Amino acid sequence: MSDIHRHTASNDISLDADPAVYKTLLESTRAIPWRIDWATATFTYIGPQIEELLGWEPSSWKTVEDWATRMHPDERAWAVDFCVAQSRAGVDHEADYRALTRDGRYVWIRDVVHVVRNEQGEVEALVGFMFDISERKKNEQKLLELQRELERLSFKDGLTGVGNRRHFENVLEHEWQQAQASRQPLSVVMIDIDFFKQYNDRYGHVAGDDCLRRVGRLLDTATGRPRDFLARFGGEEFVLVLPDTDADTALRIAGRCREVIAAEAIPHESSPISRMLTVSMGVGTRVPDDDKPPLSFIAEVDRSLYLAKQRGRDRIVAGSRVD
Ligand code: GH3
Ligand code: MG
Ligand code: MG
Repeated sequence: MSDIHRHTASNDISLDADPAVYKTLLESTRAIPWRIDWATATFTYIGPQIEELLGWEPSSWKTVEDWATRMHPDERAWAVDFCVAQSRAGVDHEADYRALTRDGRYVWIRDVVHVVRNEQGEVEALVGFMFDISERKKNEQKLLELQRELERLSFKDGLTGVGNRRHFENVLEHEWQQAQASRQPLSVVMIDIDFFKQYNDRYGHVAGDDCLRRVGRLLDTATGRPRDFLARFGGEEFVLVLPDTDADTALRIAGRCREVIAAEAIPHESSPISRMLTVSMGVGTRVPDDDKPPLSFIAEVDRSLYLAKQRGRDRIVAGSRVD
């Protein structure tokens, strides 16, 4: 303990004896020191490193105006107001802002400010360091983009790129409530590939995956309206959520889905019912009129899909109607 005290004391003495050491230290760090006289709002010192970072000579930093005008307009009002208010209140503070370089670029700076008072307690000067934080800001930006990408991906089916099951459930819940509020019909179409097990057996799983991607793309082209939503319900099954869509329109859209798949003529030599890939569909339409969750509605659409399979596949069953 006493060793530490002696050590500290001897350091203090050597620095006091040679103020040039302070200057050398200050001007050899990557942080840029500065001092502003409060009464005149002028710089009395700024480290020479400022020129390397921003291109402006130290002698060109005269007043706080020079500091404010070399700030990005998006941060200027906020940063100037904040720093002035904090300084006036005598509170140490820091602010991040973009500083203009001489060649017209911007560099992210963190300005860390200490308020110096005189013996009467009045603000006498501000001293501080400017740190170049552009690298950190770049990383923060990248992180933000990654987060957004992750969010987007977590709503997307990894194989086909259409919505995933979770996204479907969210959209359905939302559209169900919208339909309830607006008293508009909501339609759902469930689409299941026929004899897909045989497709895999015949062409292999990799080709099966390609086929699922292709069907996803085709179904996407068959539904054009902005609020129509396509998801992979699971396995070789897709689902369409069609807001503000009555039964006839839903049936027409389902028909179009079937047509675009037929037009693509994807070979399925092992299908017992056709030489091309086919799909079966269940269609349902509801104007939600109570507080029931949409689950029973989905179960009903699923029953229609089951009927389409039972009745021979490659067809659409809507409610009790067969097409
Ligand atoms: P059905 O006409 O009655 O619908 O017959 P199906 O063979 O299409 O239906 P089943 O439910 O018996 O089999 C579904 C098949 O889908 C089995 C499974 O291997 C395949 N499958 C599910 N998910 C994937 C996937 O991600 N990739 C591939 N390649 N195949 C998948
Ligand atoms: Mg299935
Ligand atoms: Mg199937």
